[in-house]
Amino acid sequence: MSLSRRSFSATLAGAAAPALKAQQPSSRKIGYCIIGLGRISMNEFMPGVEKSEHCRITGLVSGHPEKAQKMAAKYGVPATSIYSYEDFDRKMASNPEIDAVYVALPNSMHAEYTVRSAGAGKHVLCEKPMATSVAEAQQMIAACKSAGKKLMIAYRCQLEPNTLKAQQAARSGQIGRVELIDSSFGFTIAPGEWRLNKKLAGGGPLMDVGIYCLQACRIMSGEDPVEVDARWNVLDHDGRFAEVEENLVWSMRFPSGLLTTCNTSYGTNTGGWFRVYGSKGMIEMQPAFSYDGLKLQINGKEQTVEDHNPMQFAREADHFAECIRQDKAPKTAGEEGQTDLRIMEAIYRSCREQGPVKLA
Ligand code: NAD
Repeated sequence: MSLSRRSFSATLAGAAAPALKAQQPSSRKIGYCIIGLGRISMNEFMPGVEKSEHCRITGLVSGHPEKAQKMAAKYGVPATSIYSYEDFDRKMASNPEIDAVYVALPNSMHAEYTVRSAGAGKHVLCEKPMATSVAEAQQMIAACKSAGKKLMIAYRCQLEPNTLKAQQAARSGQIGRVELIDSSFGFTIAPGEWRLNKKLAGGGPLMDVGIYCLQACRIMSGEDPVEVDARWNVLDHDGRFAEVEENLVWSMRFPSGLLTTCNTSYGTNTGGWFRVYGSKGMIEMQPAFSYDGLKLQINGKEQTVEDHNPMQFAREADHFAECIRQDKAPKTAGEEGQTDLRIMEAIYRSCREQGPVKLA
C-alpha cells in the first residue's frame, strides 16, 4: 500500500503533538499493542511476550471483536485498550500503557500501520518483509525518524543462538575461507491465502520465506550482494499462482567475489536450511528458520544450542524493549529491511528481464 503524500504528512504532524512526550517508558515493563490477531501474533509472538523478561501486552488492534476479547482476557488487556483498524492510532495515542506496537498484518499493510503508529507516538516492531517496496520502506523509516520513535524489523533469526554461533564460525575462519553459500526455504501453500494475492503480499515465496535465505547469505558473509540473477516459474496450474510466482531460484555475487545460490517455493516443502562451504569445512543449519528444533553442525560436529519456542519471540520482544529503554538502535532497524527489499526488487527484475541485475 503506498501512502499519499497528504496522509503521510498529516500523520507526521500528529507525531509532533507535545502530549505524546508524557509516554516515555520508565523501568516498568514495555507495553506492546498487537496489530493484527493472526497466526504469528496469537500463536508465537504473544506467547513469546508472556515468556519475556521486560514486556507485556497492553493493547490489541483487531477487526474481530470476539477474538480480541478472548485474547484480552488471556493476556489481561483492559477492554478499553482494544481498538479497531479505523481509529486505533487516534485512540492509542493517549494510552500511556502502550509504548510500542507489533505489526503482524499482510505485507502491504505494514507501511500504513507503521506510519500511523509512529504518528501516534509509539515505537514500531514490524514483521518481515518490512513492506512491499523500497519506496514504502523509506516512508516507514522517515515516519519513525520524524516522530522520534524506534523501528525494528522482526528478523528473529538475527537474535537466535544457533544462527549467531554459525555466524561466528563463518566469520572467524573456523571453516577457512567462505567459498559458497546455499540456502532454501519453501512450503506447499494452501489455496485462499492472502500470500497468493499480489496486492496484499507484494510477491510470492521470495517475499515470504525466500527472504530467510537472503538473510542467511547476508548474515553469514557480512556482505551485501552486488549482482543477482534469478528465474521463476509456475508449474501447478491449479489457480493458486495466478498472481505470484510458485518457484524462484537465484544466485548472488558479493563484493569479496563470494557466490551464493538460493531457492524458494510455494509448491514444495524444502525444509528451510542453509550451508556455508569453506575451504576447510562446512557449516550446516537444518532446519535453520523454524521456531523450534533448529540443528547446527560445524565441520561435521553437532553444535546445536537448545532453544525452544517461543524463545525466539521472547528474545525479539526483549531486545526491542531494551532498545527503547536504553535509547539504543535495534539490531535489525528499518534500514536492514530496506536493504532486503532493494535486493528482492532486483531479484524480481532479474526474473522479468531474464538476465543478471547489478546492485549499485
Ligand atoms: P495471518 O493471515 O495468520 O494473519 C494476518 C492478520 O491480519 C489477521 O489477523 C487478519 O485478520 C489481519 N488482516 C487485516 N486485514 C487483512 C486483509 N485485508 N487480509 C488478510 N488479513 C487481514 O498471517 P500471518 O502468518 O500471521 O502473517 C502476518 C505477517 O507476519 C506477515 O507479514 C508475515 O510475513 C509475517 N510472518 C512472520 C513470521 C516470522 O517468523 N517472523 C512468520 C509468519 C508470518
